[in-house]
Order: sequence, then C-alpha cells, then structure tokens
Amino acid sequence: MASGQRRRQTSDVSIVVGVAGAGRMARVRVGGARLTGPKGASMALTDDAIAKIRSMIQSGELPPGARLPPEPQLAAQMGLSRSGVREAVKVLESARVLDVRRGDGTYVTSLAPRLLLQGLGVAVELLRDDTLLEVMEVRRLLEPMATGLAALRMTDADLDELGQILEDMRAATDDAEKLIQFDTAFHHTVVATTGNETLISLLDGLSGRTLRARVWRGLIEGNAAHQTIEEHHTIYLALRARDQLLAQASALLHVNTSEAWLRTVLAAKSADG
Ligand SMILES: [Zn+2]
Repeated sequence: MASGQRRRQTSDVSIVVGVAGAGRMARVRVGGARLTGPKGASMALTDDAIAKIRSMIQSGELPPGARLPPEPQLAAQMGLSRSGVREAVKVLESARVLDVRRGDGTYVTSLAPRLLLQGLGVAVELLRDDTLLEVMEVRRLLEPMATGLAALRMTDADLDELGQILEDMRAATDDAEKLIQFDTAFHHTVVATTGNETLISLLDGLSGRTLRARVWRGLIEGNAAHQTIEEHHTIYLALRARDQLLAQASALLHVNTSEAWLRTVLAAKSADG
C-alpha cells in the first residue's frame, strides 16, 4: 500500500511538472524503473525559470545592467514558484548572466563575451589529458587566423609593447614561471588588437595556465626554450611588417611546436604511469 501511495504521489508530481514545463517531464531512472520524483520536478521548474529569465533578457525586456523585479514579483509574473526562481538566479549568477548584490538587488550583467565565456577557461583547466590535444587543435584553427588579423590592426604602440614582452621573454631564459607569464602576455597582446572580444575570450580560455605550464615544462626539459622564444620573434617581425599571411603562417608553426611538446609531455607521463 505504501509503495502504491508513493507511485500515486510521483505520478501527481509528473503531472504538475508536465504542465509547468510545457509538456516536458523530469524523470530519473532508478534500478531500471522510471520514477518521477520531487527532485526531478524542482530541477525542471528551475529549468523553466532559467528559460523564462533568459527569454526576458533576449527580448530586451531585461537589458544589460537592468535590475530584476523582487523575487516574489518575478515568480508571480512568470507563474512559477519562488524556489524555482531562486535556484534559477543562482545558476545564472554562476554563469555571469546575473549579478546578485546582497542588500541591493539582482542585476543583469553587461553580458560581455569576456564574462559569459569565463566558464570556458575553468572547463579547459579541468579537461583530462586526452582532450588537451583537442584543445590544441582548436587553437591551431583559431590562433593563426587571429594573429594574421592582428597584423592588419596593430598600432605602433601595440608593436612596441610586444617588442618589450619579447625582450622580457629572452631575459627570462629558463625560468618557467616567467616564460609562461610572458608567453601568455605575448599572445594576449596580439589577439587583443583584433578588437574581437569573443575571439579574445575564446583564445584566453583555450590557452589556460595549466596547458601552457605543461608545454613550457616540456620545452625547457627538451632544451627547446630558446628556439621557441625565437618563434615569437618571427611572429613579431611578421606583425611589424604588417604581413598578414606571414603572421598567420608563423603563428601556425608556433602552435604546432607547442602541440608537439604537449604530445611529448603527455606521452612521457603515460609511460611513467
Ligand atoms: Zn607562445
């Protein structure tokens, strides 16, 4: 009887969710049997609240910087529970879509790519070894094009700044920490001059610290640091000459070197393990 009662309760929940979620039902599979539980229901309500807030932002009803109505009002407006709205706000806050200012209110952020794509960097830092090579492949697709574009857009001041970073890099010789720092600065400075914030955020996210650290560790151990620093010089000269194709080609060669060292480091690690 108890189990019959539970089954009845869960099916009631699934009806509620089915209505609130426009026909979509939250279900979990337990031991081969399909169950619809309160947990699934609250997740579906959160999804609905997320979708509604997102569409308010997309439609311009809530533009960047706008303050959201207080939670009870928002819940009533959307026809959803306050807890669903509260959960949705938490999710959107961690995705940098909303900014919750305690004691003030909840605001839509600037929605700038640099904010919204921040999660990419976090995700890349958590990727496992076998997927790091995929990340390198994506960089190989994007970075040469970005560097080529930079050749057309860099100002003399940008080039001077880049020249300074190159000198710092040469002075750092075998100091891995400094090399990683200057390498990051070098490529960021180049890509930043494209003025394409989405591209900048993507490449920053794909070139995380952990990945760079592994490549540079391999380079230093393999006595290839000097040669790699000179690859930056080649990129720099192509940019100075405002030669788009040459800048693109030299960046491609450079990403290829990084990828080769990453392969070496990963292979050595799997041989050790
Ligand atoms: Zn580099």
